[in-house]
This record gives sequence, C-alpha cells and structure tokens, in this order.
Amino acid sequence: MATVISEEYMKTNGYISTWKRIVLKIGSALIAPDGKGCSSHNLLAIAQFIIECRKRHIDVILVSSGSVAAGRSFFAEAKPSIGLKKAMAAAGQAEMLATWDRLFDFPTAQVLLTHGDLTDKERYDSIKETISTLLENGLLPIINENDTVTTDYLKVGDNDNLSAMVAAATHADVLIMCSDIEGLFTKDPNKYDDAVIVKTVNEIDENIKSMAGCATSSVGTGGMATKLEAAEKAAAHGIYSYIVNGFNQSVFTDFLSDKNPGTLFAPYAKPLDQDIHWLTHTTREQGELVLNKEGADAFILGDTALSTDDVVEVNGNFSNGDTVIIKDSEGEELAKASTNYSSCLLSYIADISDKSSSNSVSSVLQEDNIAMLNEASEDGR
Ligand code: GLU
Repeated sequence: MATVISEEYMKTNGYISTWKRIVLKIGSALIAPDGKGCSSHNLLAIAQFIIECRKRHIDVILVSSGSVAAGRSFFAEAKPSIGLKKAMAAAGQAEMLATWDRLFDFPTAQVLLTHGDLTDKERYDSIKETISTLLENGLLPIINENDTVTTDYLKVGDNDNLSAMVAAATHADVLIMCSDIEGLFTKDPNKYDDAVIVKTVNEIDENIKSMAGCATSSVGTGGMATKLEAAEKAAAHGIYSYIVNGFNQSVFTDFLSDKNPGTLFAPYAKPLDQDIHWLTHTTREQGELVLNKEGADAFILGDTALSTDDVVEVNGNFSNGDTVIIKDSEGEELAKASTNYSSCLLSYIADISDKSSSNSVSSVLQEDNIAMLNEASEDGR
C-alpha cells in the first residue's frame, strides 16, 4: 500500500490556497454525456469554479475533450473508424468551444495541439509562449488535441496525458482531472463492493498502478491507467494532481474550501530538470540502442559517454538528434537520450567486425540530453 501523506502536509502544499496556476482537464463524459452532442448541463459548477479561481488570481488552463462527441450526429456510421472520428472532431470542435464560451463573460481562446508539436522543442516553446500570452491578457485557453492532423504514430492518445504535458510546459501547480469516478479506488468500484477510495498517493508504484485495472469511460478515450500516467508525468515535474468526479458539484465547493474532494497525488520532492522532464515524459523514442555488459555497467555508474564499441544492437530508424531508449542486453531500459548519430550510421558501425573505424565516432549520446529512467522514478521523497 502506498504511503499516505499527512493531511497537514497536503494542506500547506496541495490545496487551493497555495495555487497560482491550474490545468483543469474535462473528459467527454462531462461535456457530452450521451456521446452525441455537447451540453452545458454538467459544466455550470465547473464554470463557476473557473470564475472563482480567476477571482482569486489563479490562472486557469482548460483542457477539454468533446469534439468527437459533438460532431458525431453529422455522420451516419454507428462505429466510426479513426479517420471518421477525426472528421467528427473537426465538425464538433467549434460546438465544444462555443459550449464553454457561452458560460463566461471573459474571452476564451482555442489551442489545438498534437503530441508531435510537444516533442519538437521549438514548437513546445512556442506553445508555452502563446499560452502565457493568453493568460497575461485575461483569456481562458481551451486546449484539445488537434485530431485532424494526428496519425496513430503521433497521437497523444488521450487528453489525460496531453493535460499533464501542458501542465509541465506551463509550470502549473496543480493538474485536476475531472472524470466520472470519485478518484482512484483500491479495486474497480463497478465490480467490487469492498473497493475503497485512496485519498492521497505519495508514489505511483506498481501497487497503485495495479489498482487502475482497466476501468475506462464509455464516452472518452481515457481511463484510470491514462490518468495515472498523467499524474506520474505531473509528479515528476513537481506538480500535484487530482482525480475527481466532475459530475459531483460539491467537488468544486470542496476545492474552494481547501479540501481534497478526490484522490490527490503528491509531486516528486526533487522534480526533474525541465529539459530532462521533456525528454522523459513528452518525447517519444524513435529506436533503441542495446549495450554490452561492460558498457551497461559503466553507464549505470554514470559513465554516459558511450562509444560505439559499447553498442551491440541498433533497433528502429532514427536520425541524429532523435530520442532513443538505452537498454542493457537483458532488455532492461536504462535511459532515454538524444543520439548524436543516425540509426543507419550506428548500425553500420555496430555491425562491422573491424571496430577500428569506430574510433572516428566518440560519444554516441548528447551528454546534456540523457534521462536515466531509474533516477526519474526514484524521487527521493
Ligand atoms: N480529442 C478528443 C475529443 O475532443 C478526445 C480525446 C479524449 O477523450 O481524451 O473528442
């Protein structure tokens, strides 16, 4: 069982009186409860909460799903393909945004993102700057995945992970994921009567992950597992996360009176450096390098200046600068890092029996862009 953090600790850290910026993620089940179109029915308490946060000078960034559900009625197919869902998202995005916009007397702004945008450093910086400018000028940014341009390969996959990446990019204090379930339960509460809610989570370990099971929402694409992934990304960046039931209005009054209305996840005590966080939690690897035993042992001990002699296998197609996973020969993942060489060049060097030419290639990895995966999870709390 995970360590339970004291209420007193949480009060001074995870509650509203300490927030300056929040990311609020709203799932499709809330904005489009029957999966057919958007309705403001469940959004009134949430909108009131957003208004109250802004009155308290807390920046709010909204990540909202619902465009696919909003666009569904324009298409006949009952079981849409991914391509058709993208068309539905394109057709429904304006309605989703308008549904929110009607609830506020301040302007809202649409921001559409893809995972590909966030893994490109320049676009990542541009996104950060745009969101800050919107907030500085009093607008409410409303973010959704840009479904039209995503491919399976590039797709963030769910707005839970997207919201965590946005929280990290914008240095939010808290990520609130509003779902149709009260929080994380010890077991699936739909199946087991003895399931109990976990109020605070200090560390997202295997035991906590096993509680996520496969509970998914009937309307959106996410489930408890993607929420835990998001909470983990946020924690590594020093951000608190909540999973709450957005259908329950008292959740928002609880937040406003410094109470925990769901499950609260504590951040790492020693958050990752911004660049290393981006590498670990936002970029997606394009391939992998397998090290021999000697190379792996030295690498674990901190000698990260790998030579091509240490690399016994090169998998995937990647270019110079891309992110790769570094593994030992047993298949254990040691690090995520940017390479100095393409897969083509490295395969050639790793393959050739005469290693003398490898002397011309020294450091395989970019020294400033190496994220050790064990360190990333051992947060020294
Ligand atoms: N982008 C999708 C939409 O607006 C939702 C993805 C999700 O449910 O997480 O419908």
